[in-house]
Amino acid sequence: SFAQPQSLEQSLKHFFGYDSFRPGQREIIEQALQRRDLLIVMPTGGGKSLCFQLPALLKPGITVVVSPLIALMQDQVIALEDNGIAATFLNSTLLPEELRSREAAILKGKIKLVYVAPERLLGERFLSFLDLVKTQVGISAFAIDEAHCVSEWGHDFRPEYRQLKQLRHRYPQIPMMALTATATPRVREDIIEQLALNQPLIHIASFLRPNLYYEVLPKHTHSFKQLLKIIQQAGGSGIIYCLTRKRVEYLAFKLREKGIACLPYHGGLPDEERRENQIRFIRDDVEVMVATVAFGMGINKPDVRFVVHYDLSRTLESYYQEAGRAGRDNDPAKCILFWSGSDIKTIEYLIAQKPQPDEQRMSRHQLRHMIDYAESTECRNRIILGYFGEKFPGNCGQCDNCREIKPIEDWTIEAMKFLSCVARCKERYGMSYIIDILRGSKSQKIFARGHDKLSTYGIGKDHTVDEWKSLGRSLIHQGLLDRTTDGYGILKLNACSWEVMQRQRRVEIVIAQKRNLDIQTRSL
Ligand code: ADP
Ligand code: ZN
Repeated sequence: SFAQPQSLEQSLKHFFGYDSFRPGQREIIEQALQRRDLLIVMPTGGGKSLCFQLPALLKPGITVVVSPLIALMQDQVIALEDNGIAATFLNSTLLPEELRSREAAILKGKIKLVYVAPERLLGERFLSFLDLVKTQVGISAFAIDEAHCVSEWGHDFRPEYRQLKQLRHRYPQIPMMALTATATPRVREDIIEQLALNQPLIHIASFLRPNLYYEVLPKHTHSFKQLLKIIQQAGGSGIIYCLTRKRVEYLAFKLREKGIACLPYHGGLPDEERRENQIRFIRDDVEVMVATVAFGMGINKPDVRFVVHYDLSRTLESYYQEAGRAGRDNDPAKCILFWSGSDIKTIEYLIAQKPQPDEQRMSRHQLRHMIDYAESTECRNRIILGYFGEKFPGNCGQCDNCREIKPIEDWTIEAMKFLSCVARCKERYGMSYIIDILRGSKSQKIFARGHDKLSTYGIGKDHTVDEWKSLGRSLIHQGLLDRTTDGYGILKLNACSWEVMQRQRRVEIVIAQKRNLDIQTRSL
Protein backbone atom coordinates (compact mmCIF):
# COMPACT_ATOMS: atom_id res chain seq x y z
CA SER A 1 0.00 0.00 0.00
CA PHE A 2 2.59 2.54 1.08
CA ALA A 3 5.27 0.91 -1.05
CA GLN A 4 4.31 1.66 -4.62
CA PRO A 5 5.90 -0.76 -7.11
CA GLN A 6 8.14 1.84 -8.70
CA SER A 7 9.29 2.99 -5.29
CA LEU A 8 10.71 -0.38 -4.25
CA GLU A 9 13.79 0.26 -6.37
CA GLN A 10 14.07 3.70 -4.87
CA SER A 11 13.85 2.25 -1.37
CA LEU A 12 16.50 -0.28 -2.26
CA LYS A 13 18.78 2.48 -3.44
CA HIS A 14 17.91 4.71 -0.54
CA PHE A 15 18.50 2.21 2.25
CA PHE A 16 21.12 -0.10 0.80
CA GLY A 17 22.64 1.77 -2.10
CA TYR A 18 21.95 -1.06 -4.60
CA ASP A 19 20.69 -0.32 -8.08
CA SER A 20 18.64 -3.41 -8.72
CA PHE A 21 17.19 -6.47 -7.06
CA ARG A 22 18.79 -9.85 -7.28
CA PRO A 23 16.62 -12.56 -8.87
CA GLY A 24 13.60 -13.26 -6.71
CA GLN A 25 14.10 -10.49 -4.18
CA ARG A 26 11.49 -8.16 -5.58
CA GLU A 27 8.74 -10.80 -5.73
CA ILE A 28 9.54 -11.93 -2.22
CA ILE A 29 9.52 -8.42 -0.84
CA GLU A 30 6.20 -7.64 -2.53
CA GLN A 31 4.68 -10.70 -0.88
CA ALA A 32 6.21 -9.84 2.47
CA LEU A 33 4.60 -6.41 2.24
CA GLN A 34 1.28 -8.22 1.72
CA ARG A 35 1.90 -9.89 5.10
CA ARG A 36 2.17 -13.38 3.65
CA ASP A 37 4.05 -16.21 5.29
CA LEU A 38 7.08 -17.07 3.23
CA LEU A 39 9.61 -19.83 2.88
CA ILE A 40 12.70 -18.67 1.08
CA VAL A 41 15.27 -21.13 -0.12
CA MET A 42 18.31 -19.55 -1.70
CA PRO A 43 21.92 -20.60 -1.81
CA THR A 44 24.29 -18.77 0.50
CA GLY A 45 25.20 -15.41 -0.93
CA GLY A 46 21.92 -15.21 -2.84
CA GLY A 47 20.78 -12.19 -0.88
CA LYS A 48 18.28 -13.58 1.59
CA SER A 49 18.76 -10.97 4.29
CA LEU A 50 17.49 -8.16 2.12
CA CYS A 51 14.20 -10.05 1.76
CA PHE A 52 13.27 -9.33 5.36
CA GLN A 53 15.38 -6.21 5.90
CA LEU A 54 13.76 -4.04 3.27
CA PRO A 55 10.16 -4.93 4.24
CA ALA A 56 11.13 -4.30 7.87
CA LEU A 57 12.05 -0.75 6.91
CA LEU A 58 8.93 -0.19 4.84
CA LYS A 59 6.41 -1.52 7.34
CA PRO A 60 5.35 0.10 10.58
CA GLY A 61 6.62 -1.59 13.73
CA ILE A 62 9.61 -3.79 14.31
CA THR A 63 10.78 -7.02 12.68
CA VAL A 64 12.13 -9.70 14.99
CA VAL A 65 14.91 -11.73 13.41
CA VAL A 66 15.83 -15.11 14.86
CA SER A 67 19.41 -16.04 14.16
CA PRO A 68 21.31 -18.99 15.62
CA LEU A 69 24.82 -17.59 15.85
CA ILE A 70 25.87 -14.63 17.93
CA ALA A 71 28.71 -13.81 15.54
CA LEU A 72 26.36 -13.76 12.55
CA MET A 73 23.93 -11.58 14.43
CA GLN A 74 26.59 -9.05 15.32
CA ASP A 75 27.92 -8.90 11.76
CA GLN A 76 24.49 -8.26 10.31
CA VAL A 77 23.66 -5.58 12.84
CA ILE A 78 26.96 -3.82 12.27
CA ALA A 79 26.42 -3.95 8.50
CA LEU A 80 22.93 -2.46 8.93
CA GLU A 81 24.15 0.25 11.27
CA ASP A 82 26.82 1.14 8.72
CA ASN A 83 23.96 1.79 6.30
CA GLY A 84 22.30 4.01 8.87
CA ILE A 85 19.57 1.48 9.60
CA ALA A 86 18.22 1.22 13.13
CA ALA A 87 19.01 -2.34 14.09
CA THR A 88 20.11 -4.00 17.29
CA PHE A 89 20.59 -7.40 18.83
CA LEU A 90 19.76 -8.89 22.17
CA ASN A 91 21.85 -11.78 23.36
CA SER A 92 23.69 -13.26 26.27
CA THR A 93 26.87 -11.28 25.63
CA LEU A 94 25.22 -8.02 26.73
CA LEU A 95 25.53 -6.60 30.22
CA PRO A 96 22.18 -6.14 32.00
CA GLU A 97 22.43 -2.37 31.74
CA GLU A 98 23.07 -2.46 28.01
CA LEU A 99 20.23 -4.92 27.58
CA ARG A 100 17.82 -2.61 29.40
CA SER A 101 18.81 0.39 27.35
CA ARG A 102 18.32 -1.53 24.11
CA GLU A 103 14.93 -2.74 25.25
CA ALA A 104 13.97 0.81 26.08
CA ALA A 105 15.03 1.97 22.60
CA ILE A 106 12.87 -0.75 21.07
CA LEU A 107 9.83 0.27 23.09
CA LYS A 108 10.31 3.89 22.05
CA GLY A 109 10.02 2.76 18.43
CA LYS A 110 13.59 3.72 17.61
CA ILE A 111 14.50 0.33 16.18
CA LYS A 112 13.30 -1.37 12.98
CA LEU A 113 15.10 -4.72 13.25
CA VAL A 114 15.97 -6.67 16.36
CA TYR A 115 18.06 -9.84 16.20
CA VAL A 116 17.57 -12.50 18.88
CA ALA A 117 18.85 -15.99 19.56
CA PRO A 118 16.09 -18.60 19.76
CA GLU A 119 16.86 -19.68 23.32
CA ARG A 120 16.52 -16.10 24.51
CA LEU A 121 13.39 -15.42 22.52
CA LEU A 122 11.37 -18.13 24.14
CA GLY A 123 11.97 -17.33 27.78
CA GLU A 124 8.83 -16.10 29.54
CA ARG A 125 10.54 -12.83 30.39
CA PHE A 126 11.29 -12.08 26.79
CA LEU A 127 7.88 -13.16 25.56
CA SER A 128 6.28 -10.68 27.97
CA PHE A 129 8.62 -8.04 26.60
CA LEU A 130 7.48 -8.97 23.08
CA ASP A 131 3.86 -8.54 24.18
CA LEU A 132 4.74 -5.03 25.21
CA VAL A 133 6.53 -4.38 21.93
CA LYS A 134 3.52 -5.64 20.05
CA THR A 135 1.11 -3.29 21.78
CA GLN A 136 3.39 -0.27 21.95
CA VAL A 137 5.14 -0.27 18.57
CA GLY A 138 3.82 -3.29 16.71
CA ILE A 139 5.68 -6.31 15.35
CA SER A 140 5.70 -6.31 11.56
CA ALA A 141 7.12 -9.81 11.05
CA PHE A 142 9.19 -12.64 12.40
CA ALA A 143 12.12 -13.63 10.21
CA ILE A 144 13.59 -17.02 11.02
CA ASP A 145 17.07 -17.14 9.56
CA GLU A 146 18.84 -20.51 9.03
CA ALA A 147 15.40 -22.08 9.35
CA HIS A 148 16.74 -25.56 8.47
CA CYS A 149 17.87 -25.69 12.11
CA VAL A 150 14.32 -26.87 12.93
CA SER A 151 14.86 -30.03 10.93
CA GLU A 152 16.68 -33.15 11.92
CA TRP A 153 17.14 -33.73 8.22
CA GLY A 154 19.13 -30.52 7.89
CA HIS A 155 22.81 -30.27 8.53
CA ASP A 156 22.54 -28.25 11.69
CA PHE A 157 19.62 -29.33 13.85
CA ARG A 158 19.06 -27.15 16.90
CA PRO A 159 16.44 -28.26 19.39
CA GLU A 160 15.70 -24.64 20.43
CA TYR A 161 14.37 -24.01 16.94
CA ARG A 162 11.64 -26.57 17.55
CA GLN A 163 10.19 -24.23 20.15
CA LEU A 164 9.71 -21.43 17.64
CA LYS A 165 6.27 -22.81 16.88
CA GLN A 166 5.24 -21.06 20.09
CA LEU A 167 5.64 -17.75 18.30
CA ARG A 168 3.04 -18.75 15.79
CA HIS A 169 0.66 -19.79 18.55
CA ARG A 170 1.20 -16.70 20.61
CA TYR A 171 1.09 -14.27 17.68
CA PRO A 172 -0.99 -15.96 14.97
CA GLN A 173 -1.56 -12.67 13.13
CA ILE A 174 2.08 -11.76 12.65
CA PRO A 175 3.56 -12.93 9.34
CA MET A 176 6.51 -15.25 9.49
CA MET A 177 9.31 -15.57 6.97
CA ALA A 178 11.60 -18.60 7.09
CA LEU A 179 14.93 -18.44 5.27
CA THR A 180 17.44 -21.15 4.53
CA ALA A 181 20.14 -22.20 2.14
CA THR A 182 19.23 -25.83 2.71
CA ALA A 183 17.18 -27.09 -0.11
CA THR A 184 16.27 -30.72 0.27
CA PRO A 185 12.52 -31.20 -0.15
CA ARG A 186 12.42 -33.04 3.14
CA VAL A 187 13.89 -30.13 5.09
CA ARG A 188 11.56 -27.76 3.30
CA GLU A 189 8.50 -29.73 4.41
CA ASP A 190 9.86 -29.91 7.93
CA ILE A 191 10.29 -26.16 8.14
CA ILE A 192 6.74 -25.49 7.01
CA GLU A 193 5.38 -27.98 9.50
CA GLN A 194 7.60 -27.19 12.47
CA LEU A 195 7.12 -23.44 12.22
CA ALA A 196 3.43 -23.89 11.37
CA LEU A 197 3.74 -21.57 8.37
CA ASN A 198 0.35 -20.60 7.06
CA GLN A 199 0.01 -21.33 3.33
CA PRO A 200 3.41 -19.85 2.72
CA LEU A 201 4.63 -18.58 -0.57
CA ILE A 202 7.58 -20.82 -1.29
CA HIS A 203 10.42 -19.29 -3.20
CA ILE A 204 13.16 -21.65 -4.28
CA ALA A 205 16.10 -20.21 -6.13
CA SER A 206 18.37 -22.31 -8.27
CA PHE A 207 21.27 -23.89 -6.42
CA LEU A 208 23.49 -23.95 -9.45
CA ARG A 209 26.77 -22.19 -8.80
CA PRO A 210 28.06 -21.71 -12.31
CA ASN A 211 31.49 -20.48 -11.30
CA LEU A 212 32.33 -23.60 -9.29
CA TYR A 213 34.18 -26.50 -10.83
CA TYR A 214 33.48 -29.86 -9.18
CA GLU A 215 35.89 -32.77 -9.25
CA VAL A 216 36.22 -36.06 -7.41
CA LEU A 217 39.51 -37.89 -6.97
CA PRO A 218 40.18 -41.31 -5.54
CA LYS A 219 42.51 -41.06 -2.58
CA HIS A 220 45.77 -42.92 -2.88
CA THR A 221 49.42 -42.57 -2.01
CA HIS A 222 49.94 -39.67 -4.40
CA SER A 223 47.08 -37.62 -3.11
CA PHE A 224 49.25 -35.40 -0.99
CA LYS A 225 51.22 -34.42 -4.10
CA GLN A 226 47.97 -33.76 -5.93
CA LEU A 227 46.86 -31.59 -3.05
CA LEU A 228 50.07 -29.53 -3.18
CA LYS A 229 49.52 -29.02 -6.87
CA ILE A 230 45.95 -27.84 -6.31
CA ILE A 231 47.16 -25.33 -3.74
CA GLN A 232 49.94 -24.05 -5.96
CA GLN A 233 47.74 -23.73 -9.04
CA ALA A 234 44.90 -22.03 -7.22
CA GLY A 235 46.75 -18.76 -6.77
CA GLY A 236 44.63 -17.72 -3.81
CA SER A 237 43.29 -18.88 -0.53
CA GLY A 238 41.57 -22.14 0.15
CA ILE A 239 40.00 -24.38 2.75
CA ILE A 240 40.89 -28.04 3.23
CA TYR A 241 38.37 -30.08 5.18
CA CYS A 242 39.29 -33.26 7.04
CA LEU A 243 37.06 -35.65 8.93
CA THR A 244 38.80 -35.59 12.29
CA ARG A 245 40.81 -33.21 14.46
CA LYS A 246 43.78 -35.50 14.33
CA ARG A 247 43.85 -35.49 10.58
CA VAL A 248 43.55 -31.69 10.56
CA GLU A 249 46.60 -31.36 12.79
CA TYR A 250 48.59 -33.87 10.83
CA LEU A 251 47.79 -32.42 7.44
CA ALA A 252 48.49 -28.85 8.59
CA PHE A 253 51.86 -30.05 9.86
CA LYS A 254 52.66 -31.80 6.56
CA LEU A 255 51.68 -28.74 4.54
CA ARG A 256 53.78 -26.41 6.65
CA GLU A 257 56.71 -28.75 6.10
CA LYS A 258 56.24 -28.10 2.39
CA GLY A 259 56.27 -24.36 2.95
CA ILE A 260 52.52 -23.76 2.69
CA ALA A 261 51.28 -21.01 5.01
CA CYS A 262 48.39 -22.70 6.72
CA LEU A 263 46.60 -22.94 10.04
CA PRO A 264 44.46 -25.58 11.70
CA TYR A 265 40.87 -25.07 12.87
CA HIS A 266 38.80 -27.52 14.85
CA GLY A 267 36.63 -27.80 17.93
CA GLY A 268 39.50 -29.05 20.06
CA LEU A 269 41.46 -25.81 19.90
CA PRO A 270 40.99 -23.13 22.56
CA ASP A 271 38.40 -20.50 21.58
CA GLU A 272 41.06 -17.82 21.50
CA GLU A 273 43.26 -19.72 19.07
CA ARG A 274 40.35 -20.60 16.83
CA ARG A 275 39.27 -16.98 16.63
CA GLU A 276 42.82 -15.88 15.95
CA ASN A 277 43.29 -18.47 13.18
CA GLN A 278 40.04 -17.49 11.56
CA ILE A 279 40.96 -13.82 11.54
CA ARG A 280 44.37 -14.57 10.09
CA PHE A 281 42.81 -16.60 7.31
CA ILE A 282 40.26 -13.92 6.49
CA ARG A 283 42.97 -11.23 6.47
CA ASP A 284 45.11 -13.37 4.11
CA ASP A 285 47.96 -13.76 6.59
CA VAL A 286 47.83 -17.40 5.63
CA GLU A 287 46.67 -18.97 2.39
CA VAL A 288 45.15 -22.17 3.60
CA MET A 289 42.88 -23.20 6.44
CA VAL A 290 42.95 -26.88 7.31
CA ALA A 291 39.77 -27.56 9.24
CA THR A 292 37.04 -29.83 10.40
CA VAL A 293 33.47 -28.91 9.53
CA ALA A 294 33.47 -26.76 12.67
CA PHE A 295 34.92 -24.09 10.40
CA GLY A 296 32.78 -22.13 8.06
CA MET A 297 29.28 -21.23 9.10
CA GLY A 298 28.98 -17.48 9.06
CA ILE A 299 32.43 -16.95 7.64
CA ASN A 300 32.38 -14.31 5.03
CA LYS A 301 35.41 -14.56 2.79
CA PRO A 302 34.38 -14.04 -0.80
CA ASP A 303 37.68 -14.83 -2.52
CA VAL A 304 38.20 -18.46 -1.50
CA ARG A 305 39.62 -20.05 -4.66
CA PHE A 306 39.34 -23.70 -3.67
CA VAL A 307 37.69 -25.96 -1.16
CA VAL A 308 39.23 -29.39 -0.93
CA HIS A 309 37.59 -32.17 1.03
CA TYR A 310 40.51 -34.36 1.85
CA ASP A 311 38.08 -36.91 3.27
CA LEU A 312 34.58 -37.88 2.24
CA SER A 313 31.75 -35.74 3.66
CA ARG A 314 28.99 -37.28 5.70
CA THR A 315 26.19 -35.85 3.62
CA LEU A 316 25.81 -34.35 0.18
CA GLU A 317 24.05 -31.41 1.76
CA SER A 318 27.00 -30.56 3.97
CA TYR A 319 29.34 -31.18 1.07
CA TYR A 320 27.46 -28.65 -1.02
CA GLN A 321 27.42 -26.12 1.82
CA GLU A 322 31.11 -26.50 2.58
CA ALA A 323 32.25 -26.61 -1.04
CA GLY A 324 30.01 -23.61 -1.64
CA ARG A 325 32.29 -21.46 0.51
CA ALA A 326 34.48 -21.25 -2.57
CA GLY A 327 33.97 -18.50 -5.11
CA ARG A 328 31.45 -16.31 -3.34
CA ASP A 329 32.83 -13.45 -5.42
CA ASN A 330 31.54 -15.31 -8.49
CA ASP A 331 35.04 -15.75 -9.93
CA PRO A 332 36.04 -19.28 -10.91
CA ALA A 333 36.84 -21.58 -8.01
CA LYS A 334 37.41 -25.30 -7.51
CA CYS A 335 35.67 -27.82 -5.28
CA ILE A 336 37.58 -31.05 -5.04
CA LEU A 337 36.64 -34.15 -3.14
CA PHE A 338 39.15 -36.87 -2.29
CA TRP A 339 37.74 -40.09 -0.98
CA SER A 340 38.44 -43.73 -0.33
CA GLY A 341 36.64 -46.77 0.93
CA SER A 342 38.26 -46.32 4.29
CA ASP A 343 36.56 -42.91 4.66
CA ILE A 344 33.25 -44.72 4.33
CA LYS A 345 34.30 -47.05 7.13
CA THR A 346 35.31 -44.13 9.33
CA ILE A 347 31.99 -42.39 8.78
CA GLU A 348 30.06 -45.61 9.34
CA TYR A 349 31.93 -46.01 12.59
CA LEU A 350 30.98 -42.45 13.62
CA ILE A 351 27.37 -43.12 12.72
CA ALA A 352 27.34 -46.26 14.82
CA GLN A 353 28.27 -44.10 17.83
CA LYS A 354 25.04 -42.14 17.59
CA PRO A 355 22.64 -43.08 20.36
CA GLN A 356 19.36 -43.18 18.43
CA PRO A 357 18.64 -45.92 15.88
CA ASP A 358 16.53 -43.43 13.93
CA GLU A 359 19.37 -41.01 13.78
CA GLN A 360 21.69 -43.76 12.59
CA ARG A 361 19.30 -44.76 9.85
CA MET A 362 18.98 -41.18 8.67
CA SER A 363 22.73 -40.72 8.64
CA ARG A 364 23.28 -43.92 6.68
CA HIS A 365 20.78 -42.78 4.15
CA GLN A 366 22.54 -39.44 3.81
CA LEU A 367 25.90 -41.15 3.52
CA ARG A 368 24.56 -43.26 0.69
CA HIS A 369 23.78 -40.12 -1.32
CA MET A 370 27.27 -38.84 -0.66
CA ILE A 371 28.81 -42.09 -1.91
CA ASP A 372 26.57 -41.95 -4.98
CA TYR A 373 27.95 -38.52 -5.74
CA ALA A 374 31.53 -39.64 -5.27
CA GLU A 375 31.18 -42.77 -7.37
CA SER A 376 29.03 -41.39 -10.11
CA THR A 377 30.12 -40.72 -13.65
CA GLU A 378 27.27 -38.31 -14.27
CA CYS A 379 27.34 -34.54 -14.28
CA ARG A 380 28.09 -33.51 -10.69
CA ASN A 381 25.84 -30.49 -10.90
CA ARG A 382 23.03 -32.72 -12.04
CA ILE A 383 23.47 -34.96 -9.01
CA ILE A 384 23.73 -32.11 -6.52
CA LEU A 385 20.82 -30.18 -7.95
CA GLY A 386 18.80 -33.38 -8.29
CA TYR A 387 19.37 -34.02 -4.60
CA PHE A 388 17.83 -30.63 -3.90
CA GLY A 389 14.84 -31.50 -6.04
CA GLU A 390 15.95 -29.29 -8.90
CA LYS A 391 15.90 -30.59 -12.45
CA PHE A 392 19.08 -29.89 -14.34
CA PRO A 393 19.79 -31.22 -17.81
CA GLY A 394 23.43 -32.08 -17.12
CA ASN A 395 26.39 -31.26 -19.34
CA CYS A 396 27.38 -28.37 -17.14
CA GLY A 397 30.87 -28.28 -18.60
CA GLN A 398 31.96 -27.38 -15.09
CA CYS A 399 32.71 -30.78 -13.60
CA ASP A 400 35.16 -33.58 -14.17
CA ASN A 401 32.50 -35.87 -15.55
CA CYS A 402 31.35 -33.34 -18.12
CA ARG A 403 34.85 -32.36 -19.15
CA GLU A 404 36.26 -35.81 -19.59
CA ILE A 405 34.67 -37.39 -22.57
CA LYS A 406 33.11 -40.66 -21.58
CA PRO A 407 31.34 -43.19 -23.75
CA ILE A 408 27.57 -43.31 -23.53
CA GLU A 409 25.79 -46.61 -24.03
CA ASP A 410 22.21 -47.63 -24.55
CA TRP A 411 21.22 -49.65 -21.50
CA THR A 412 17.48 -49.77 -22.11
CA ILE A 413 17.34 -53.58 -22.04
CA GLU A 414 19.29 -53.76 -18.79
CA ALA A 415 17.12 -51.01 -17.32
CA MET A 416 14.02 -53.00 -18.22
CA LYS A 417 15.44 -56.06 -16.49
CA PHE A 418 16.35 -54.06 -13.43
CA LEU A 419 13.02 -52.30 -13.13
CA SER A 420 10.99 -55.46 -13.72
CA CYS A 421 12.94 -57.11 -10.98
CA VAL A 422 11.99 -54.25 -8.65
CA ALA A 423 8.37 -54.70 -9.73
CA ARG A 424 8.42 -58.47 -9.23
CA CYS A 425 9.81 -58.01 -5.74
CA LYS A 426 6.84 -55.78 -5.04
CA GLU A 427 9.03 -52.69 -4.49
CA ARG A 428 10.11 -53.90 -1.08
CA TYR A 429 13.91 -54.12 -1.36
CA GLY A 430 17.04 -52.06 -1.79
CA MET A 431 19.53 -52.02 -4.60
CA SER A 432 21.93 -54.73 -3.44
CA TYR A 433 19.18 -57.26 -3.04
CA ILE A 434 17.75 -56.57 -6.48
CA ILE A 435 21.21 -56.98 -7.98
CA ASP A 436 21.67 -60.26 -6.11
CA ILE A 437 18.50 -61.59 -7.72
CA LEU A 438 19.49 -60.37 -11.18
CA ARG A 439 22.87 -62.02 -10.84
CA GLY A 440 21.35 -65.25 -9.58
CA SER A 441 22.95 -65.16 -6.14
CA LYS A 442 22.72 -68.32 -4.08
CA SER A 443 22.00 -66.38 -0.91
CA GLN A 444 19.76 -68.03 1.66
CA LYS A 445 17.50 -64.99 1.85
CA ILE A 446 16.67 -65.31 -1.81
CA PHE A 447 15.77 -68.98 -1.53
CA ALA A 448 13.82 -68.47 1.67
CA ARG A 449 11.66 -65.84 -0.01
CA GLY A 450 11.29 -67.90 -3.17
CA HIS A 451 12.87 -65.17 -5.25
CA ASP A 452 14.92 -67.74 -7.14
CA LYS A 453 11.62 -68.58 -8.84
CA LEU A 454 11.19 -65.08 -10.27
CA SER A 455 11.55 -64.70 -14.03
CA THR A 456 14.20 -62.07 -13.40
CA TYR A 457 16.35 -64.38 -11.27
CA GLY A 458 19.77 -64.78 -12.85
CA ILE A 459 19.03 -62.78 -16.01
CA GLY A 460 21.77 -60.28 -15.23
CA LYS A 461 24.83 -62.48 -14.89
CA ASP A 462 26.43 -60.80 -17.89
CA HIS A 463 27.14 -57.66 -15.85
CA THR A 464 29.16 -57.11 -12.70
CA VAL A 465 27.69 -55.88 -9.44
CA ASP A 466 29.39 -52.52 -10.01
CA GLU A 467 27.87 -52.17 -13.45
CA TRP A 468 24.41 -52.89 -12.12
CA LYS A 469 24.95 -50.46 -9.28
CA SER A 470 26.03 -47.80 -11.66
CA LEU A 471 22.89 -48.43 -13.74
CA GLY A 472 20.73 -48.33 -10.60
CA ARG A 473 22.22 -45.05 -9.46
CA SER A 474 21.91 -43.60 -12.89
CA LEU A 475 18.22 -44.53 -13.03
CA ILE A 476 17.72 -42.72 -9.73
CA HIS A 477 19.63 -39.64 -10.82
CA GLN A 478 17.70 -39.51 -14.06
CA GLY A 479 14.41 -39.72 -12.17
CA LEU A 480 13.53 -43.10 -13.70
CA LEU A 481 13.41 -44.82 -10.32
CA ASP A 482 12.79 -43.63 -6.78
CA ARG A 483 14.40 -44.62 -3.52
CA THR A 484 12.82 -44.13 -0.12
CA THR A 485 14.44 -41.63 2.18
CA ASP A 486 13.69 -43.49 5.40
CA GLY A 487 17.21 -44.89 5.59
CA TYR A 488 16.31 -48.29 4.16
CA GLY A 489 16.74 -47.17 0.57
CA ILE A 490 13.83 -49.22 -0.79
CA LEU A 491 13.54 -48.91 -4.54
CA LYS A 492 10.16 -47.69 -5.78
CA LEU A 493 8.85 -47.41 -9.30
CA ASN A 494 7.45 -44.16 -10.63
CA ALA A 495 5.60 -43.21 -13.81
CA CYS A 496 8.89 -42.94 -15.73
CA SER A 497 9.95 -46.43 -14.62
CA TRP A 498 6.82 -47.83 -16.27
CA GLU A 499 7.55 -45.91 -19.46
CA VAL A 500 10.94 -47.59 -19.59
CA MET A 501 9.44 -51.03 -19.00
CA GLN A 502 6.89 -50.38 -21.73
CA ARG A 503 9.66 -49.37 -24.12
CA GLN A 504 8.43 -45.80 -24.33
CA ARG A 505 11.71 -44.42 -23.11
CA ARG A 506 15.34 -45.16 -23.81
CA VAL A 507 17.95 -45.30 -21.11
CA GLU A 508 21.47 -44.14 -21.77
CA ILE A 509 24.21 -44.28 -19.24
CA VAL A 510 27.73 -43.06 -19.06
CA ILE A 511 30.15 -45.92 -18.80
CA ALA A 512 32.72 -45.51 -16.11
CA GLN A 513 36.34 -46.07 -16.76
CA LYS A 514 37.27 -48.34 -13.93
CA ARG A 515 38.45 -46.02 -11.25
CA ASN A 516 41.17 -47.63 -9.34
CA LEU A 517 40.21 -47.06 -5.78
CA ASP A 518 42.93 -48.24 -3.62
CA ILE A 519 41.69 -48.48 -0.14
CA GLN A 520 44.26 -47.27 2.28
CA THR A 521 44.04 -46.00 5.77
CA ARG A 522 47.11 -43.80 5.66
CA SER A 523 47.01 -41.72 2.59
CA LEU A 524 48.86 -38.65 3.74
P1 ADP B 1 22.54 -14.90 2.11
O1 ADP B 1 21.95 -14.52 3.46
O2 ADP B 1 21.54 -15.38 1.14
O3 ADP B 1 23.74 -15.79 2.21
P2 ADP B 1 23.23 -12.14 2.04
O4 ADP B 1 21.91 -11.62 2.41
O5 ADP B 1 24.29 -12.15 3.10
O6 ADP B 1 23.08 -13.58 1.44
O7 ADP B 1 23.73 -11.37 0.78
C1 ADP B 1 24.94 -11.68 0.16
C2 ADP B 1 25.61 -10.42 -0.35
O8 ADP B 1 24.89 -9.89 -1.44
C3 ADP B 1 25.68 -9.35 0.70
O9 ADP B 1 26.96 -8.76 0.64
C4 ADP B 1 24.61 -8.36 0.28
O10 ADP B 1 24.91 -7.06 0.70
C5 ADP B 1 24.63 -8.50 -1.22
N1 ADP B 1 23.33 -8.16 -1.85
C6 ADP B 1 22.12 -8.61 -1.50
N2 ADP B 1 21.17 -8.12 -2.32
C7 ADP B 1 21.80 -7.35 -3.22
C8 ADP B 1 21.37 -6.55 -4.35
N3 ADP B 1 20.09 -6.45 -4.70
N4 ADP B 1 22.33 -5.89 -5.05
C9 ADP B 1 23.62 -5.99 -4.70
N5 ADP B 1 24.08 -6.70 -3.67
C10 ADP B 1 23.20 -7.38 -2.94
ZN1 ZN C 1 28.68 -31.48 -15.19
